[in-house]
Amino acid sequence: MTDFVFPSPPQASLAVVGTHARFPIRRVFCVGRNYAAHAREMGKDPDREPPFFFMKPADAVCDAGMVPYPPQTSDLHHEIELVLALGSGGSNLSEKEALACIWGAGVGIDLTRRDLQAQAKKMGRPWEWGKAFDMSAPIGPLVPLAQVPSLQTGRIWLQANGAMRQSADISDLIWSVAEIISVLSQSMAVSAGDLVMTGTPAGVAACHPGDVLRGGVDGIGEIEVKIT
Ligand code: MN
Repeated sequence: MTDFVFPSPPQASLAVVGTHARFPIRRVFCVGRNYAAHAREMGKDPDREPPFFFMKPADAVCDAGMVPYPPQTSDLHHEIELVLALGSGGSNLSEKEALACIWGAGVGIDLTRRDLQAQAKKMGRPWEWGKAFDMSAPIGPLVPLAQVPSLQTGRIWLQANGAMRQSADISDLIWSVAEIISVLSQSMAVSAGDLVMTGTPAGVAACHPGDVLRGGVDGIGEIEVKIT
């Protein structure tokens, strides 16, 4: 066994439906602007330009439940997203090979410090301070692929305090699940343990301490988060 200078940090992981075993997380890839209506609300042309990515650290992922309002923002936004969990990987994957890497799926919220992200965009700086903070990726229990009815169609939605904020269908994705993983694998080898947050539909908005966010993707599951 490797001798570390201090005990190695705990392995980041997610709950899995129907078992006590957890899914070990390696990396978290996030797709930007993957629904046309959301690209438009962010002031961008939704033309099918190649997908682009940003990342969150594995330990920014947390199970559903209480999430603290993060520091250094006054504009925390919710982004409901379909999440893919990879059980294998590779480089230069075809779309068919990419699909075969998917272990399961879940529903997550890409929490975003929109004011810091907007400032970073304006200054041509990286997005991490807007996106990659502690507990910025609450994700509900993962569902093994065999139990997922479809990764092509299904309503995706989010309510804040019971009011519908985001409502669309994963068939509205500009880049499909297979295309996203295939494109990612052209830039780096994807692998078991990687998560992919596939982008959010229109309706992103601010949330505040005390808010209860509830969202889901039909057939895959739901997530509930309370901002504390
Ligand atoms: Mn997002």
